[in-house]
Amino acid sequence: PVSRSPSPDGGIKRIAGENSSVVQSHYNELKESGLAERSKSRIFHMRNFNNWVKSMFLNEFLGKIKNSQKLGEHLRVLDMCCGKGGDLLKYEKAQITHLICTDIADVSIEQCKVRYDQMKGGRKFTAEFIACDSTLVRLREKYKDPSMKLNLVSCQFAFHYCFESLSQADCMARNASECLQPGGYFIATIPDANEIMRRQRLANENSFGNSVYNIEFCCDTENPPLFGAKYQFHLEGVVDCPEFLVYFPLLEELCKKYGLKLVRKTSFADYFHENKESGKMLLQRMNALESYPNKGRPLFGDDSEYEHAKNNKLGN
Ligand code: SAM
Repeated sequence: PVSRSPSPDGGIKRIAGENSSVVQSHYNELKESGLAERSKSRIFHMRNFNNWVKSMFLNEFLGKIKNSQKLGEHLRVLDMCCGKGGDLLKYEKAQITHLICTDIADVSIEQCKVRYDQMKGGRKFTAEFIACDSTLVRLREKYKDPSMKLNLVSCQFAFHYCFESLSQADCMARNASECLQPGGYFIATIPDANEIMRRQRLANENSFGNSVYNIEFCCDTENPPLFGAKYQFHLEGVVDCPEFLVYFPLLEELCKKYGLKLVRKTSFADYFHENKESGKMLLQRMNALESYPNKGRPLFGDDSEYEHAKNNKLGN
């Protein structure tokens, strides 16, 4: 559970990240490919697997919140860095009542809104859409009702962008926490900095990867800085932009400053092993089974790991 306390600004001057506009342009220019095209991609199953983790994770925490609520209470969610709205259906299925979608990429936010407008389900929630930089702007001031209390804040595959600087990470942590009501949750997925550094050490090069992904460090890898540990990340067909290592203890401290308490930290591999039975049907439905084992590295192993992952099924 999250305990809330007043949100001090800590006297930190808010400064826009030097890389924010690069990230924004990258995501704005990213074309939305249809299922037919996606299914031809070599990372199709891996993306489905990541999506499965998100679904399970969201359901787990929305479920906890619902179980603690009285019947008919509001269930309000902030999807910070929502992208094109890939999680809208998950929220509909979970029967939330209100959603705030924010992203730095204005084109993505537009697409997210179109997607929302096209949703026809009877359990449709109300929603608002805000294009802005979560590492620079106080999101609360942009909400239709700045006094609104949220039950869940979700930031999927995006929090690491704020680790460009202390000012940005601090701002993002405040945005994640300041409207949460007691008992609410902030959930996020980020790349594993230790795993990235392990691979860098193994390669003994600043640039490493395989035919699907590449990471090229733009900082001192012997002694990476706490903020601004920048690398250029390329993932076939979907990502090609600067990212930053997240030093987890620092993230935990920042969140603590804004009244959040760490209740759970887990790798995708461990999460999979814990949930593979309860989430088996969903794994099958989401066509995610084939990327399962990857030896605890669901994101991007070397080519042999990729082949191994592709050829294995649940239970092997
Ligand atoms: N959360 C979505 C999902 O799971 O499908 C999108 C993830 S995508 C990998 C990362 C998203 O973070 C992009 O849509 C990008 O525009 C957004 N983003 C990056 N930096 C941001 C910032 N400073 N403020 C708001 N959004 C940002």
